[in-house]
Amino acid sequence: MNKKSSSELFGLAKTLMPGGVSSPVRAIKPYPFYTARAEGSRLTVVDGYQLIDCCMAYGPLILGHAHPLVKNAIAARLGDGWLYGTPSPLEPEFAGMITADHPGMEMVRFVSSGSEATMAAIRLARGFTGKKDIVKIEGGFHGAHDGVLVKAGSGATTMGVPDSAGVLADLVAHTLQVPFNDPGMLESVLSAHDDVAAFILEPVLGNIGPVLPEDHYLREVREITKAHDVLLIFDEVITGYRVGIGGAQVKYGVRPDLTTLGKIIGGGLPIGAFGGRREIMELVAPQGPVYQAGTFSGNPLSLTGGIATLRYLHSHPSLYDSLDQKTRALGESLGEGGNGSFVRLGSMFKYFFRSEPPQNYREVKECDPAAFGTFWKRMLDDGIFLPPSQFETNFLSAAHSDQDLATLARAYTQCR
Ligand code: PLP
Repeated sequence: MNKKSSSELFGLAKTLMPGGVSSPVRAIKPYPFYTARAEGSRLTVVDGYQLIDCCMAYGPLILGHAHPLVKNAIAARLGDGWLYGTPSPLEPEFAGMITADHPGMEMVRFVSSGSEATMAAIRLARGFTGKKDIVKIEGGFHGAHDGVLVKAGSGATTMGVPDSAGVLADLVAHTLQVPFNDPGMLESVLSAHDDVAAFILEPVLGNIGPVLPEDHYLREVREITKAHDVLLIFDEVITGYRVGIGGAQVKYGVRPDLTTLGKIIGGGLPIGAFGGRREIMELVAPQGPVYQAGTFSGNPLSLTGGIATLRYLHSHPSLYDSLDQKTRALGESLGEGGNGSFVRLGSMFKYFFRSEPPQNYREVKECDPAAFGTFWKRMLDDGIFLPPSQFETNFLSAAHSDQDLATLARAYTQCR
């Protein structure tokens, strides 16, 4: 049984692990709190207090922590073993559920993370089109692999500049960028570059957001990419089953050529998936020449968590409305005061320290980081955990009660 405090644990971790953490965003100063357990909307910290969680592990836990249905399904599965290295009956079952829900996914391949999914989708787009470049959105995040780790540049379009040491400039020279909500810029970039395989975007920017697509933006993006023979990839790692069944492609009525999923489809266990039009997906190995493989792909426990979660979502269709009502009420309770703007879409929300809701990366960068830092610390002191970066979306889950919402409303009003 651990008896160490968070500060003691971090003291040990930082001598053994870079920055003391397993992922950079968890590196809270002066030291992160260490979670001992989590249930519903609450984290229990090793130092003996609880927090209302509005980070929810950055999106996967739409049903809340340790939802009994998911927990029981995983526990029941454990008795049958948890890794086979062969196909399992869970795979066609889950593939059937995912493809039935997503108009843009006629076939699907399971992988182990969202990063893997976007990496493979980009490779597949290049394999299918025989073209080299990709276009992404400034400030769009698609995981931590080389081709998408590109700093958003100032000005209209930037040829890629690596965002991390160790990423080859030669490689990211094939990554072009455009601002979100600017179909004109996409049109001019695609007109000027004839070697573009795919345009990849989060249909709702989650990693600097939520930044919402303006009316018709996604539909225009679909038309422009089609006209230029460029594949459209919706990265729905966050929006998949978050903005509704079928994700943003159903909500906004736009059918991408390829889709990437992750987070919610594993019910909190590691997972990713990519899928799309049959003629494209048939190029994936072993059916076709685009190689993709993984020891843990189709992991039975992740699929079990995902199947339980998706079944719950399908059998409780009112959940999305109820989450939408909750963030609407939260926004209304904040009223007009304060120095920022409240943006929400269903269970995704955030208070931006900018008087108008941002429409793109440049505007998000105008938000006041010092004001966010003070606000975040005050919220934590009030017992509420928000993602520690001002760029991350906040999430609600089915487990957040009316009482939690009342506490949040009071804290947001007082701390902003
Ligand atoms: N794509 C998007 C939109 C994401 O938000 C993330 C992670 O936050 C990823 C891809 C990468 O997913 P993972 O962290 O599972 O590798």
